[in-house]
Amino acid sequence: MAKFKIEHHKEICIGCGACAAIDPEDWVMEGDKSHLIDSDKIDTENGKGEGKIIDESKLALNQEAADACPVPCIFVKKVEE
Ligand code: SF4
Repeated sequence: MAKFKIEHHKEICIGCGACAAIDPEDWVMEGDKSHLIDSDKIDTENGKGEGKIIDESKLALNQEAADACPVPCIFVKKVEE
C-alpha cells in the first residue's frame, strides 16, 4: 500500500479549525494552532513543524484537510518506495 507524508507547517497555521473539523482522528486544536496527532517534530521552510507517515487509507481525509486549509500549511507528499 502506498505511503504518504503529511506535513504541518505549524509556524504559519492560523488556527481556523478546518483540519480538526474534517479529520478529527488526525488533527486536534491546541490553543491557537492545530496539532497533527502522533506526529514527529520536523524542520520546514517556514520554521518548526510536524510530520507523520500515513498509509493510503488515511489519505482522503488528510487531503481534504489540506485542500480546506486557507493558508495553506498542510502538505501531502507521496513517499517513494
Ligand atoms: S486548516 Fe490549516 S490554518 Fe486551519 S487550523 Fe488546520 S492547519 Fe491551521
